[in-house]
Amino acid sequence: MFERSYDIVIIGSGAGGGAVAKELAPLCRDGVKIAVLEWGAKLREDEYTGREVEMAEKLYFDMGGVLTRDRTMTLAFGRAYGGSTVVYTGTSLMIPESVIRKWAVPGLDWTDVRVRSEKYLRENNVHLLERDKLNDNNRLLYEGCKKLGYRVEQFPVNLKGCQGSGLCNLGCPNAAKQGTHRVQLPLAEELGVEVITNCRVETIGDRECIATVTTPPYGEASRWPDGRYRISAKAVVVSCGAVNSPALLLRSRLPQSLPALGRYLTTHPALILVAEHDHAITNYYGHPKSFYCDQFAESHGFLLETCMYFPFTTAKNLIGFGREHSELMQHMDRLQMILVLALDPAVPENRVTVDASGDPVVDYTLTPPVLSSLLASMRYTARIFFAGGARRVHAPAGRKFFITADEVERIDDVITMDQLKPGKVSVTSAHLMGGCRMGLNRSSSVTDAWGRVHGVPWLYVADGSLFPACSEINPYITIMALADRVAERVKTDLPALRST
Ligand SMILES: Cc1cc2nc3c(=O)[nH]c(=O)nc-3n(C[C@H](O)[C@H](O)[C@H](O)COP(=O)(O)OP(=O)(O)OC[C@H]3O[C@@H](n4cnc5c(N)ncnc54)[C@H](O)[C@@H]3O)c2cc1C
Ligand code: SF4
Repeated sequence: MFERSYDIVIIGSGAGGGAVAKELAPLCRDGVKIAVLEWGAKLREDEYTGREVEMAEKLYFDMGGVLTRDRTMTLAFGRAYGGSTVVYTGTSLMIPESVIRKWAVPGLDWTDVRVRSEKYLRENNVHLLERDKLNDNNRLLYEGCKKLGYRVEQFPVNLKGCQGSGLCNLGCPNAAKQGTHRVQLPLAEELGVEVITNCRVETIGDRECIATVTTPPYGEASRWPDGRYRISAKAVVVSCGAVNSPALLLRSRLPQSLPALGRYLTTHPALILVAEHDHAITNYYGHPKSFYCDQFAESHGFLLETCMYFPFTTAKNLIGFGREHSELMQHMDRLQMILVLALDPAVPENRVTVDASGDPVVDYTLTPPVLSSLLASMRYTARIFFAGGARRVHAPAGRKFFITADEVERIDDVITMDQLKPGKVSVTSAHLMGGCRMGLNRSSSVTDAWGRVHGVPWLYVADGSLFPACSEINPYITIMALADRVAERVKTDLPALRST
């Protein structure tokens, strides 16, 4: 076993870990030793090919299709230098004040989160794309909503030099998306933070981690040779994401019992809805996500966003098979897509545990309110598609494969709850939140409002797992803002931690 020693070890390099690394990096000038241990690889620029299956293998856990225990939902999250920010779409929203109020975490106030979020909006070059760069797929959601009088807004996005290749979720081949792999990690490395890729942390012990470096057949070489490592540290920051952070802490057997660990996972359960126009539209080219509609958030518990998925993902999300399925897939150039995100409640039963090998297992049940939201979302989305001129619509809970425009008046009879069967309908998630929620005490939370694990003074969490409930918007900016707070806390605590 190789031995290494640092002052601060950050595990994971995504939205949370990348922000912490950059914030703490100036300490390296004063001799503080900092390492980021990242399971994933750092791809070479020529490896971003935009090929669906190849990129999914290199950049995601289980190719973006991690299954929940009962196999009714797939979860997408990244494994790479930059974590899920390598594959995210880059929509960058500020969390509403009302959500921070609902979270009710003592010591966490919205003004603080807003100021820190604004810092990352600037750092990541967040802006609105010029209207002439928006494609038909985006324009049609906007027009459909406007016709029906629904509120619709343009997404701010974090791009520099976007070429509109539409491949964001496969890792941008044009280096345009400003994820942590483009912004925070290079800044941190310049100042002396060491990022060790291909390094999976197995367990955390008393001020140390056990990790293994294994070189995959792609990406840049890791800074460390293959092998097993014991890494000691005065402070450990866990930023492995909402599935892997609870799993790592659960298999590490912490000195504290934490009954809430792994619980209250929320996912913004998502449906990809598809409509066909009678002519080709621009959908594949152009940034995929330019508008969102929050008209139904309060009343029905869902958001709508533009989206455009790749052939494999689209095919797997359609319900049914055979002639109609193939007919729809053959007309990819005519397809319009809308993503539904249900705003799911945080319940203790939705949780991460670990199996006998220490690997994460996710239990997630779609609660009745979420099923109602998903049903309503399909009905409203069908109306929006038809208002935008679609010829026919495929709804996962439709009583038939295609719904035609002449059926719009009786859409509630055509899209029905009895067809919305978990396991039959393809529900996905790319917004994983909770599992190490912030809060007041050990019985109902895992960390305090600064990401410090209750009862373990040298251990911190800084990622999406901190959310006590869902964010009700795309989460990455809020994750960075919370990680920024954790970094500040580590900086304050470090002198005392170094002297023990
Ligand atoms: C396809 C897709 C599109 C998205 N689009 C958007 C969007 O447009 N806007 C938005 O706000 N959000 C979006 N998101 C969500 C956003 O990317 C995530 O919420 C955010 O990146 C999560 O940050 P995190 O720090 O919690 O985890 P991640 O960013 O997932 O980082 C966790 C890192 O930890 C590493 N890791 C895990 N376990 C270990 C271990 N044991 N040892 C070492 N390393 C480990 C992983 O490899 C990973 O790199 C999207 C997500 C996906 C998948
Ligand atoms: S649309 Fe823009 S950000 Fe997305 S992959 Fe293409 S160039 Fe990159």
